[in-house]
Amino acid sequence: MKLQSFPTIASMLLSFAATSLAAPFVGPTFYGDAPDEHHPWAVHDGNRPQPTIVVPGTFSTQEQPGKPPSDAVILFDGTDLSKWEADSGEGVPTKWIIKNGAMECVPGSGFIRTRDKFGDFQLHVEWAAPTRVEGDSQGRGNSGVFLMGLVEIQVLDNYMNPTYADGMAGAIYGQNPPLANALRPPGEFQVYDIVFRRPIYRNGELVDAGYVTIFENGVLVQDHGLIEGPTGHMRRTKAVPFPEAGPLKLQDHGNPVRYRNIWYRPLPPRAIEGGTDGPLTTEATTAKRQELAMAIRQDAQKLENPANPLPQMLRLAESLQYAEDAVTLQKVQQMAAQYVDALDQLPADKLGPKKDEARHVRDVFNYLTRFKVLSASFEPKLKLEQLIKNQNWDKRPDGKQKRKASE
Ligand code: MG
Repeated sequence: MKLQSFPTIASMLLSFAATSLAAPFVGPTFYGDAPDEHHPWAVHDGNRPQPTIVVPGTFSTQEQPGKPPSDAVILFDGTDLSKWEADSGEGVPTKWIIKNGAMECVPGSGFIRTRDKFGDFQLHVEWAAPTRVEGDSQGRGNSGVFLMGLVEIQVLDNYMNPTYADGMAGAIYGQNPPLANALRPPGEFQVYDIVFRRPIYRNGELVDAGYVTIFENGVLVQDHGLIEGPTGHMRRTKAVPFPEAGPLKLQDHGNPVRYRNIWYRPLPPRAIEGGTDGPLTTEATTAKRQELAMAIRQDAQKLENPANPLPQMLRLAESLQYAEDAVTLQKVQQMAAQYVDALDQLPADKLGPKKDEARHVRDVFNYLTRFKVLSASFEPKLKLEQLIKNQNWDKRPDGKQKRKASE
């Protein structure tokens, strides 16, 4: 694609000022492949909402925990346990203690859990096994990060401590071993960065599988690992419906494991929940395209200007690539015919400065023809092409014909 099919800065600013959509225009229109039955937006669509701005945090060192990103929900910052309770009942205070900026499991006190319940998320947890090494295999520095209280990501000091593979640190306990053992020695803080997508059930049926991706000290240990069901000891997992949200739980397995710097970021909904990332169903795509078309048509009303009808015509034409509408199409055809006729009647000295604009409009017509929004025999397009040809506006100084931008 050639740069010339980008809108001019002026038209972008105009769009920016006029838009009523949630996000301002920042990108091109009439440029990449048009919306289709599984994608509500065009490729490189300027109408697609901008991602949220997040100020990144900082990495931790052994001495000091890093800073969470700006939109993180902080569960534990080293100072208090107000977001936590004992797993034995609502509002029951935990017996876990805070020492030197970390919370520590008091053996025998039971699990600790968050008061918050949450579903799909990015989770950051740091933990450290006791410096004094005691026990072996599963008996050494054992705890666990229970996602939604149901899926245990094993916490274990298996640094130079062999144990069964699906029970090592970073394992989906009893289901899937970590891809690597990237642990630091006991006493040092280990970092888990976890991306969790719960299994989604409807009427007891699984409609979208759950997965977990985990980095242990920056090393990938679960690569989109399937959540087969809640984890357990010794027994093969049975798939059961998951709720939409659950508390994060940390395990008391009888070892004084420490935790610090715990935060999460909720993830956007998946397509099946009404999210708009990735390919969508035909129904969801149609609905979104309709919504976009309506918003753009509403926006186009504000561009009503008899002295300069072009911006409104282009905006209305733009809406047609998202959803057909007979009235809008008729208006575009009418405005386009008027535009080309007016151009055709301009004296030479007034026509000359219209070169770039006319070619842009021609490119828009070509784009809309290519994606069957307008018919190939759309009269204003044919007329405009003739006018451009007559004016030699596509000829480069070297005499060669310029390729059409929309081809
Ligand atoms: Mg455990």
